[in-house]
Amino acid sequence: MRKHVILLSSLLILLCGLSGCFHTPQKETKDNINSIIEEQNSNILISINYPVTHIQAFDRILDQDVEHIYNQFKEEYESFQSLSEESELNIDYTYDIVNERYYNITLTVFLSSSKLAHPITEFKTYVYDKKDKKLLTISDLLKEEEREKLVPKIEQQLLTTYQDCLLLEEMQGYITPSTDYLFTIDDRNLTIYFNPGIITSHDCGIIKVDIPVSELSLEIPLTKDVFQPLTFETPVQIEKVIDPTKPVVALTFDDGPSKYTKEIIDILKEYDANATFFVLGNKVELYQETIRQSIANGNEIGNHSYNHKQLTKLSVSELKEQIDKTQDILKQYTGYTPRLLRPTYGAINQKVRSNTDLSIVLWNIDPKDWKIKDSETIANNVLTKVSDRDIILMHDTKKRTVEAVKIIVPALIEQGYQLVTISELEEVKLLNQQ
Ligand code: ZN
Repeated sequence: MRKHVILLSSLLILLCGLSGCFHTPQKETKDNINSIIEEQNSNILISINYPVTHIQAFDRILDQDVEHIYNQFKEEYESFQSLSEESELNIDYTYDIVNERYYNITLTVFLSSSKLAHPITEFKTYVYDKKDKKLLTISDLLKEEEREKLVPKIEQQLLTTYQDCLLLEEMQGYITPSTDYLFTIDDRNLTIYFNPGIITSHDCGIIKVDIPVSELSLEIPLTKDVFQPLTFETPVQIEKVIDPTKPVVALTFDDGPSKYTKEIIDILKEYDANATFFVLGNKVELYQETIRQSIANGNEIGNHSYNHKQLTKLSVSELKEQIDKTQDILKQYTGYTPRLLRPTYGAINQKVRSNTDLSIVLWNIDPKDWKIKDSETIANNVLTKVSDRDIILMHDTKKRTVEAVKIIVPALIEQGYQLVTISELEEVKLLNQQ
């Protein structure tokens, strides 16, 4: 059979000045996100992602809070007697740097368990003042008379927007000038949040109201740093030569990006190899340069949901949100639109299949790099089992996986394999059917 040239759509990327252009606070070879993704005995699922601000005191507060939640969860599930008892902990975040001084972080803690009547969602907010080295409360922002004026403003908005959900008596009891609200702030709005069950019924979710800062007399100066919009050049096609008569293998990496992803794409480049990276939407912004570099090198990017919730347990709208939000954020920060979906925890059902146009990709070989600590064992788990057209599952979130990749990539090439992306693997299969 003749050699076929496979064309791969890629992007020429305009990196505008690296520093001022993107809303990226730190180099991507450092941890920008703390990430714990674990699956224990297949019935205990944990996905925790929250930002690293690189402000020591602030990071310590976040670490302690998350560790507390994690330990509480572990204590609870350790009492599980059987595999039919299921539990899932998911922590997701938003991160907004208002300016050099003020940082907003929110955490959404989702807990679902067969021991609970319904899943619990709890929202936490952190507004950090880097100059004064402390978390801000509402009373740092507003004097008492201003906090009194705030009460009717909040009530009025709640009555307008959430009329059907509100428990009026609870609302009047809770909203007072001395309430320690959950809040974030920027140059436009003071946003106040209410956890489910505080002033509304549980099924209303998290409630929020925006109070324009123009209506308030703030105690702190607030201007927001302006970040320029992203710019990209038009995508171009690069040529790759793949011989469909020779064996191919697709390495795939889930749960990233992380500070280790850059090392993996460098190793791949060194050997003229490619792989597919199934990324989490909530990591895209903080590792956007790494993803752009990965695409430019000819790797494929797939969708691995937004925050790693188990997709099979979600409602159709939640499921679509997990997928679409990740597609959108990848498009926004890289100009790239994935065509592949790898379901979280490998869990798949008809609901997931019928609610996405993306091609669902599982795997044949799992070297268990999420569990096994030794990189040589991980590499051997691949090299002793591999055969033509296999798909290998790994995670670009651990140092030991980087070390394993250093062994696996040259060894596979030595054995005559071409290391291709999932789309290229599919094309090779098609060519061989003709
Ligand atoms: Zn995963």
